[in-house]
Amino acid sequence: TALSLKDPTLFTDACRVADRWISETDGIAVTNPATDETVAIVPSLPVETIRDAVDAAKAAMPAWAARPAKERAAILRRWYELIVENADDLAQILTAEQGKPLAESKGEIVANAAYLEWFAEEAKRVYGDVIPAPSQDRRVLVLKQPIGVCVAITPWNFPNGMITRKAGPALAAGCPIIVKPASQTPLSALSLAVLAERAGVPEGIFQVVTGKAAMIGTEFCTNPDVAKISFTGSTEVGRWLLREAANDVKRLSLELGGNAPFIVFEDADLDEAVQGAMIAKFRNSGQTCVCANRIYVHESLAETFAEKLGEAASALKVGPGTETGTDQGPLIDMAAVEKMESHISDALEKGARLVSGGKRHALGGTYFEPTVLFGASQKMRLAHEETFAPLAPVVSFRTDEEAISMANDTEFGLAAYFYTNDLRRMFRVGEALESGIVGVNTGLIANEAAPFGGFKQSGLGREGSKYGIEEYLEIKYLCVAGL
Ligand code: ADP
Repeated sequence: TALSLKDPTLFTDACRVADRWISETDGIAVTNPATDETVAIVPSLPVETIRDAVDAAKAAMPAWAARPAKERAAILRRWYELIVENADDLAQILTAEQGKPLAESKGEIVANAAYLEWFAEEAKRVYGDVIPAPSQDRRVLVLKQPIGVCVAITPWNFPNGMITRKAGPALAAGCPIIVKPASQTPLSALSLAVLAERAGVPEGIFQVVTGKAAMIGTEFCTNPDVAKISFTGSTEVGRWLLREAANDVKRLSLELGGNAPFIVFEDADLDEAVQGAMIAKFRNSGQTCVCANRIYVHESLAETFAEKLGEAASALKVGPGTETGTDQGPLIDMAAVEKMESHISDALEKGARLVSGGKRHALGGTYFEPTVLFGASQKMRLAHEETFAPLAPVVSFRTDEEAISMANDTEFGLAAYFYTNDLRRMFRVGEALESGIVGVNTGLIANEAAPFGGFKQSGLGREGSKYGIEEYLEIKYLCVAGL
């Protein structure tokens, strides 16, 4: 490869299963979206090997769960430190498979390694309860126990960060976890396995498998030894997993699609709102599940806002993620480009006006111009479907009620944003928005101390915060009688 890593051993094409590192020369090709070159070939594992991973996890779990939380915490902490120490190398690997600018890759890695640090600390605080009993001869105790073998299926938009968010709480709770990364971006997952081993995570506790998604998904959903599935990806696949896992009544955490509204009220600070929208919309080329998909601006500001946003968007430097100064890399693949184009042409046909961008970038490939539209409306596809690309449509509104009702007019409910300086409006709107995360006067909301997750069809469960570890725990009520 063309990577110049300080530690070349972090770049591996091998899956981690039980005590084995498995490579395969005719497996799945990983392509660099900036160059279209093959970066590596990772295995397409057969179902038997997926079962081996589940068996190894099951065998490894009792000893891991039995260790004092302080010991599990020390290992997680060490893993966190190794990731931070090697963040520059990991960023190169991430950019090579995903395309985002190196600085963003490093940001993803460090910000999400913090979930390992956080859950290393939470591991020690898995408190139970002693509840006053309804009769004298009894005591009511509540224990929290690790749920069992966990599996994670993760997406390509945050190839590194979506793994540490899930592995952190699983390992902290005392569970092993098997990760199936997205086929487009498995290398970040494999490098995390190298560092996990180095940190002292025992064999079978953190494994990575690659191969046919539907086959692995089916095995995860139907293998009786899998207790829990944590998935980040599309709502369509999330629904399918929920159905497949229904027979065994497995526990699922789902982080699915979003369609975030971004509202600017007439009392907002316009320039701050433009800045917030730039971050909420154009980060990772618009390819995040919390990206602003629809921007609602009060009619008194809407046109000025759209012009300013257009100027800022045109100033973004599009290019390879490895080049210094790049703000926006290529989109993940041609399907992403085509979806963006179809949303733009649908909007233009239905009366929107182009403020900036609008077409494929002169660099070719899957590069696209950051695009701003004015005069968008609820009739357009972009109002109801997640664009997942650098397209910012501005819709104007008159009343707060109208803005809230348009914002909630979606089956999704992950993130929402609004800008206001009015305290009463802050509470009224904050409480009325049907979404799991609401950013007020900010375009950047995720951090390890806060609960991340969605309402409605955006998912089930929460990641991060004191709530995140509950997803990996069972509650046991111990009834002690005859006292
Ligand atoms: P996207 O459209 O963003 O690629 P997906 O939901 O298709 O989102 O992918 C997210 C993750 O789910 C990836 O790891 C992908 O390989 C995996 N995946 C896709 N289809 C299935 C499936 N049928 N069963 C299990 N995992 C799947």
